[in-house]
Amino acid sequence: MAVPNLAENLSELQLKIKACAEASGRNVSDIELIAVSKTRTLDEVKQIAELGQISFGENTIQDALTKIPHLGQHLNWHFIGHLQSKKAGKLPGYFQWIHSVDNLKLAQKLSTAMFSHSGNATLNCLIQVNVSGEKNKSGLKPNQVKTFLQEVVNLQLPCIQWRGLMTIGVLGDEQQTRSAFSQLRELQQQCKTELNLPMFDQLSMGMSGDYCLAIEEGATLIRVGTSIFGQRG
Ligand SMILES: *Cc1c(COP(=O)(O)O)cnc(C)c1O
Repeated sequence: MAVPNLAENLSELQLKIKACAEASGRNVSDIELIAVSKTRTLDEVKQIAELGQISFGENTIQDALTKIPHLGQHLNWHFIGHLQSKKAGKLPGYFQWIHSVDNLKLAQKLSTAMFSHSGNATLNCLIQVNVSGEKNKSGLKPNQVKTFLQEVVNLQLPCIQWRGLMTIGVLGDEQQTRSAFSQLRELQQQCKTELNLPMFDQLSMGMSGDYCLAIEEGATLIRVGTSIFGQRG
């Protein structure tokens, strides 16, 4: 297999993101690229970081810890995988964001862990939503989101900032994916206004196969791995 040229992949991707943003009348600076570095080596991540990429995504603690402590403090790390609440204590000090909160116990444990780790740093939390209703996906059902958000907001958990919603598209189905992304945007906007949460302004959606669609539908955080690093082995 040919060694992928990461610098070329990244700059090509950046151009495409810019083109998608312009085509949908959006400002490219409102869209943040998260380089999904799960399963990649420290060396691969270093290469991308040296090109100026700031935000990275990982989906297991174990894999992430082979990289995060060995890279610059200026990077932003996003936890994008399923997290068991008993592992919540492993995030503080490493991750600034989590995209996959979908239960109360996890939210509470994250808050406790953040508070005992630093007392003042905040963890930016997104609620994962299973918009398409596929059985193998985690996340709340769309009709559970407002109640859940109201509940956690009322708890006033220390060190937790509720920032928005995350979803995963439907593999190979553009129409269903677009519909899921547009539903997520509507839900996020309703949450922000109805619950009066000005900081609840983020929409994490779009991966290598569907980030352009996601941008058209309002994504503010896109999570892209394969287009940067090549196929995962
Ligand atoms: C792996 C992963 C991605 C990146 O997927 P690619 O197809 O490699 O771009 C994005 N989001 C989540 C939640 C993932 O697990």
